[in-house]
Amino acid sequence: MQHAEEFLEDDLVAVLTTQPLDRCLDYRAPEGGCRTGDLVEVPLGPRKVPGVVWGPGLGGFDLSKARRIGRRIDVPAMTPSMVQFLTRAADYTLTPLSSMLRLALRAPGLGDPPSMSRLYRRGLTEPSRMTDARSRVLDALDAFDGVAVTLKELSDAAGVSGPVIKGLVNQGAVDEIEAPRDTPFPALDPSLPGLPLAEDQIAAAEALRRAVTAGTYGTTLLQGVTGSGKTEVYMEAVAAALAAGRQVLVLLPEIALTGEFLKRVEARFGARPAEWHSGVTMTERRRCWKMVGRGEASLVVGARSALFLPFQDLGLIVVDEEHDTSYKQEDGVLYNARDMAVLRASICGAHVVLASATPSLESWANAEAGKYTRLILRSRFGTANLPQMGAIDMRAETLPSMTWLSPTLRRAVSDRMQRGEQALLFINRRGYAPVTLCRACGEQIGCTQCDARMVEHRFQKRLVCHQCGESCPMPEACPSCQVAGKLAAVGPGVERLAEEAAAAFPEARVAVLSSDLYGSSRALKEQIEAIAAGGADIIIGTQLVAKGHNFPLLTLVGVIDADLGLQGADLRAAERTFQLMRQVAGRAGRAERPGQALLQTFQPEHGVIRAILSGEEEDFWRAEAAERQALGMPPYGRLAGVILSGPDVAQVFDLGNAMAQQAGPLRAIGAEVYGPAPAPIARVRGRHRVRLLVKAARTVPLQAALAQWAGQFKLTGGVRMSIDIDPQSFL
Ligand code: ADP
Ligand code: ZN
Repeated sequence: MQHAEEFLEDDLVAVLTTQPLDRCLDYRAPEGGCRTGDLVEVPLGPRKVPGVVWGPGLGGFDLSKARRIGRRIDVPAMTPSMVQFLTRAADYTLTPLSSMLRLALRAPGLGDPPSMSRLYRRGLTEPSRMTDARSRVLDALDAFDGVAVTLKELSDAAGVSGPVIKGLVNQGAVDEIEAPRDTPFPALDPSLPGLPLAEDQIAAAEALRRAVTAGTYGTTLLQGVTGSGKTEVYMEAVAAALAAGRQVLVLLPEIALTGEFLKRVEARFGARPAEWHSGVTMTERRRCWKMVGRGEASLVVGARSALFLPFQDLGLIVVDEEHDTSYKQEDGVLYNARDMAVLRASICGAHVVLASATPSLESWANAEAGKYTRLILRSRFGTANLPQMGAIDMRAETLPSMTWLSPTLRRAVSDRMQRGEQALLFINRRGYAPVTLCRACGEQIGCTQCDARMVEHRFQKRLVCHQCGESCPMPEACPSCQVAGKLAAVGPGVERLAEEAAAAFPEARVAVLSSDLYGSSRALKEQIEAIAAGGADIIIGTQLVAKGHNFPLLTLVGVIDADLGLQGADLRAAERTFQLMRQVAGRAGRAERPGQALLQTFQPEHGVIRAILSGEEEDFWRAEAAERQALGMPPYGRLAGVILSGPDVAQVFDLGNAMAQQAGPLRAIGAEVYGPAPAPIARVRGRHRVRLLVKAARTVPLQAALAQWAGQFKLTGGVRMSIDIDPQSFL
């Protein structure tokens, strides 16, 4: 589809629907005709399903049977660049186009008639009595420049409660009107001044501004330690794109980070941007989708799926914390939002900023190869210094059994507390203990549906499977031998560490940050804000805390088990450990007070641990890159994972074996096939899992060969096959 084609009423057109079919369906154009890209509703069997007019119909059947498109949905047509993006993303990830379209139409109630809501704007009369709160409301309305806003937007902007506004409505100083609910987002003002930047920030901001103003595709890796002011720098790129009248998307890896970011946008551009993630209400999501499509949301802050919003003219995509593994979607459509951001930008002539303190090896290698521009911020902003890094050699420490805080770490924590500073104890394990062992029979309690151990969550008094989410009340007796009172918790999780810290520091306020302990993202956000404001002395946290939160009073980070990530045979074990440890350590000393990071380890001489301690990041990446290159592994070679799963283990293996034997299409491009082998997690939700791994050179047409190979096999007996291009997880 190059340019929009017009069809007259009753012309035969091809419609791509969101139904799991691998082709378009033919329909007759509706009354008034239609054009390619139009969103429509079509009858399919007894149902009505959404779709997009994809091109002229193919015909080849009894045309008198062709049904008519139900109606056009009143939203802007899909742009040719979006069509191209979906098509290429589908080809890359070997996903049916219909699944891609489902991602692109994932707003609730798109076809519904516009619903109405109450909006507020300046009325004609002056209030009888002016109070401070009232004048703030009127000032806020003036600042909105005649645009009517919701009660919430107005009360947020003015910092007053609803009744103050209602009082003004009664006096006629504020008008309450009924308007379509989906209203434009307040305009952002890129001409407002930003913070005065430091010298290296100025240079980086200038480079980004030039890149964005050029209006062509390019990618910049913005690298700088946590706290070096990367966000402040890419805000200048955002300003440049807004000033050029183009739209901007900022992707964040974690919903809990959006709160702080929204405030910074508001401080910089005078209003809040649109939000798109799972914590946003259905109505707000629909509003976001529609306004993005009409060009009336100029900046969207969101999670990875925001990439599929119908931007009209996208000029900049920022992927913050670009190394974060949550950018890879691991179920449904398997895509990496970082890579898809680059794809989308290259199609629509946008610039991409990948920001990170610890880039992925992929992005580092692309920068080394000159495909990406690299900008580096070398020091922390202002007086903040990088934390001093140190190892605690656990072989030389004496700890009572069932405890995990070494005497050295305990001393460091009490030092900080005496100075009124905060300490963070990091352990990347949710729950109380990873293993529950029966001391009578030796059984380790496992999930009945998966090949995984049940994890005790003591706060909830339950055992939980971290694979499938299955849970049960904590039993009294061993489920295997029925002996009561012999179950023992083995190993530490975040809850157990909190218990130990509370016992060791009875006077301390201990806060636990683990994603499963908060009922909602709002509750988590509030806890994070409370901690940042000084509401805790000791923070016990999982991976969640590594993701860019700003705790000004935090000066000590203690890593309980720095060796944890090094144990797996995972391709990226070293890279992940390096990134995670550097990120966590980076939480310390973000304000004026100097920070320290201490790593408890049994192998302080391990190459990765040494690289973390020395901070010789370039050396680490070069060594890691050389190793991957020698093995032909990503990013120097390419991988695709094939996961077969089914209720019957023999059947799954038979298919795996057949695939390994009939690998002609892969051999033809010089690719190697490994497996089949039982997946490390060999059973999930009662389905047996078998993996094959395909390894190929960078330059060969891997997807076409994979499609041809996989197409040879019929899936029977409930067996499923999923192909994971560029796998991140090997479980
Ligand atoms: P990063 O994104 O690299 O972690 P941030 O942009 O969040 O760094 O900056 C870290 C802290 O320093 C923030 O609190 C930010 O407001 C502050 N900061 C950064 N640059 C400036 C500046 N030029 N002037 C004042 N404060 C700044
Ligand atoms: Zn399970």
